Parts: sequence; structure tokens; C-alpha cells
Amino acid sequence: MATCPKCGGHLTSRHRCRRTTEQTVIDAVLSAAAGGFWALAMAALFDRGGLTADADMMFFFGGAVIGATTQAWLRRR
Ligand SMILES: [Zn+2]
Repeated sequence: MATCPKCGGHLTSRHRCRRTTEQTVIDAVLSAAAGGFWALAMAALFDRGGLTADADMMFFFGGAVIGATTQAWLRRR
């Protein structure tokens, strides 16, 4: 039986790669960072006057949580 080049598992028609902890952590960090920066970009875009400058970190973490949650949700299907 052929083996998967990525994870070394048996390459059946229903094969899905097992994810390593490292990959999972990297994915979570990247998606959180992407979500955070996206939220910051949105805040900057809609807030030309800088009214929410004090809340930048709040936007970043809010976006990070949304990004990580979305990514975790997407990965489950
Ligand atoms: Zn695989």
C-alpha cells in the first residue's frame, strides 16, 4: 500500500493527514496573527481620525480570537 509523502500514513481513498502538534500550533498562531492584523487594518480603514488609537490592542486581540476561532472551526470540517 502506498504511503502518504506528508505524514507517512497509509494512502487510502479516505486518507487525511494527521497533523503534528507543531503544525497545529503554527496554524493557530498564523491565523490569530492574520485575524489580528486584519482587525487592525479594518480599524485603521474606518477610523481615519484615529479615534480608536487607544483601542488598537483591543482590536488586535479581538481579531486574533476571531481568526483563531474561524480557523479552528474551518479545520473541523
Ligand atoms: Zn498524509
